[in-house]
Amino acid sequence: MGIFWTRLLEINLYNLKENLRSLRKLLPEEVEILPVIKNDAYGHGLLEVARALTEEKVYGFGISEPYEAHLLRRAGFIHPLILLSGFEKDWLPDIKVLRITPVVTSIFTLEWLIDFTLKKAVTFEFHLKVDTGMHRFGVPMHELLEIIERLRENPQLQLTGLMTHLACSERPEDPIFHAQIKEFKKALSLLTSEGFNPKFVHLYNSAGIIFSEDFKGNLVRPGIALYGGYPCNKARARIRLKPVMTLKSKVVEIKHLKKGEIAGYGPTFTAKRETLLGIIPVGYGDGYPRILSNKGFAVIRGQRVPIVGTISMKALYLDLTEIPSPQLGEEVILLGGEREEVPADELAQLADTISYELFCNLGKIIPRRYK
Ligand code: PLP
Repeated sequence: MGIFWTRLLEINLYNLKENLRSLRKLLPEEVEILPVIKNDAYGHGLLEVARALTEEKVYGFGISEPYEAHLLRRAGFIHPLILLSGFEKDWLPDIKVLRITPVVTSIFTLEWLIDFTLKKAVTFEFHLKVDTGMHRFGVPMHELLEIIERLRENPQLQLTGLMTHLACSERPEDPIFHAQIKEFKKALSLLTSEGFNPKFVHLYNSAGIIFSEDFKGNLVRPGIALYGGYPCNKARARIRLKPVMTLKSKVVEIKHLKKGEIAGYGPTFTAKRETLLGIIPVGYGDGYPRILSNKGFAVIRGQRVPIVGTISMKALYLDLTEIPSPQLGEEVILLGGEREEVPADELAQLADTISYELFCNLGKIIPRRYK
């Protein structure tokens, strides 16, 4: 590999950009894209991801904390930054200074905004999130009229976007999906009939972009698909995504076990035959799920090999018995790969989780290399 490494996250920014282009192909030309780069870009690196995506056409970025905006502004990004999941009252000075677009998710967050703009004699552009049925962040539909009244009384506030978030956009056949869209359209027509015309109307995440048929709004907020994660199995039939995060490591020890000998904590593994075990220096301390003990797999020389025994903080075992003469130092792919050798969604399913969580956890500690 040229440098010494025992475990490495390779982040393929070409594939990231290609995934963006693939999503764009599913959208009418006038729809703008707001990549979601919260949580260190789902573990892929905030600034590196933002830099790569701005080489393509994006409107701005979806973030979750002012600190992310601070890092982006300090690095020279001038794009609109939308704080997707609401805000704390004491974030407002930073929100103003960092030119962040806040999202109002309740009457009381609107009151904070009003209070701040009156005290500081400033104006504010913001987006309004309506709760169309997911019951997470968002103004309930029955409070919309009250919001509209407060907006009339406070012209220093400019409503530039209306948004919602869908509970099951990966299942467009689910009545909840349609009910939420219907509610969202109702909210939009109420606002317009009251004289408010938000410039941006947005509701779709990755799955929404992939599965929505007609109504798209004019801004979309993809996250997982940019990073090569399929929101569900069915999405594979609609879009081809490329892996962005690859976790590679090496065989650092080889152990020969006789039939009946054990390996690792517990022990949860006993050799049923003469067995060759490869020890890989990756464990739950690196964000690799411990639940994959005796369940997960990796790829060596293009061949799948099972994880055996209990995964420890910094090591796991692979059963290399089927690999002819395995060598110390051989490369192992634990996630991703150029040909998607270890699909993130398959591994996530085995770990009873989703690719989002795998990416976020693996992205925390393991050194990254970008290409
Ligand atoms: N929009 C909002 C409000 C979100 O909270 C998220 C992610 O959690 C996204 C968009 C992106 O979703 P996905 O990663 O499923 O595309």
